[in-house]
Amino acid sequence: MALYPHFLIYFELKTFRQKSLRNTGIMENIAIIGSGPAGLTAAIYAARANLAPIIIDGMQPGGQLTQTTDIENFPGFEKPISGFELMNTMRKQAERFGVRFMMDAVASCDVTGPVKKLTLMMNGTIETRTVIIATGASARYLGLPAEQQLMGRGVSACATCDGAFFKGQRVAVVGGGDTAMEDALYLSRIAEHVTLIHRRDAFRASKIMVDRVLRTHNIEVVWNTVVEDVLDVSKGEVSGIKLKNVKSGETTERAVQGFFVAIGHTPNTSIFAGQLDIDSDGYLVTNQTSTSVAGVFAAGDVQDRHFKQAVTSAGTGCIAALLAERYLATI
Ligand code: FAD
Ligand code: NAP
Repeated sequence: MALYPHFLIYFELKTFRQKSLRNTGIMENIAIIGSGPAGLTAAIYAARANLAPIIIDGMQPGGQLTQTTDIENFPGFEKPISGFELMNTMRKQAERFGVRFMMDAVASCDVTGPVKKLTLMMNGTIETRTVIIATGASARYLGLPAEQQLMGRGVSACATCDGAFFKGQRVAVVGGGDTAMEDALYLSRIAEHVTLIHRRDAFRASKIMVDRVLRTHNIEVVWNTVVEDVLDVSKGEVSGIKLKNVKSGETTERAVQGFFVAIGHTPNTSIFAGQLDIDSDGYLVTNQTSTSVAGVFAAGDVQDRHFKQAVTSAGTGCIAALLAERYLATI
């Protein structure tokens, strides 16, 4: 087990800086896929360990938080900070330590061998000794135009993130799985009233969660119902929802100030299919961020079916970078 000497890393670092960001032909130590909280935290730790990480940004530099307005639960900020500002600050912190960014996306990869190969959409390939996957998971939406137009203005896919903005108000949750149950229960402790809308007459969620929901006095379940529209785009805020009973065809409107979509997430793992262990819902299977392949680590929402928070993503990004550093010391 040979130690990876730090003076070697230092000389490699110098070499990296002399080459262009196209980066083809250079053996990287750590390539990080994704620049959300998980990817940027991993990069900060890896850069401070002199490992000269490179980040491939993907289609959403800064990740999901750049879509949202006020963040109130990321430690270190006394006042709310906008998602964009938080991610921009994290990025500048990473840049201060020399992290290199590629405005590109990984189109395909071969991560199974000792040298991992990432094929980029525009800039050729990257060869690297380790990979940290931080590609996130995308919330599923109903696909209504108003849903996107009112995103961050009363529409949310994250009750833990945005629930606190609806203290004492009326909100609705759509979905019938454990996430919808958890969100409805969480919101019932903040909002005055929660309408839980499900398209069928039975929940998919586990019995224990369903029982809790049905016992909660301020949660009202509306069965066999779909959401046809979110009101009111002309006002620029959520004022209600338009519902349709799929059995009777009857349409109704309900006044709510918050609308939470809880119909599941799709982890961004398709490019790793067949190479890494992936569970039945598409999440990467990890043990403290180590995937099923040596030298490949995963952090953030892409491997987290339960918590999906900026701070948990940052935490696992840190762990992934520390484990990648240890792995590099052994090869
Ligand atoms: P993400 O932030 O999803 O970043 C994924 C990154 O991977 C992106 O940069 C993307 O471009 C990149 N990527 C994907 N595929 C590829 C590819 N093939 N090649 C290269 N790059 C790729 N959490 C909180 O803690 N507090 C909040 O208040 C809060 N509010 C939220 C509000 C909204 C509207 C949403 C949607 C989420 C919110 N969250 C909040 C959740 C939080 O955003 C996520 O938990 C967190 O962003 C996950 O971080 P991540 O780094 O794992 O992934
Ligand atoms: P899920 O189990 O896939 O449930 C998604 C729900 O959304 C289903 O009820 C589905 O309805 C509904 N839905 C999907 N598309 C819809 C649409 N277009 N319109 C209306 N409704 C739609 O997803 P999840 O709830 O996020 O859970 C994912 C996994 O994480 C599960 O394994 C779950 O057990 C787990 N989880 C566990 C906990 C916990 O244990 N506390 C908490 C959260 C998540 P149908 O039922 O009709 O298909």
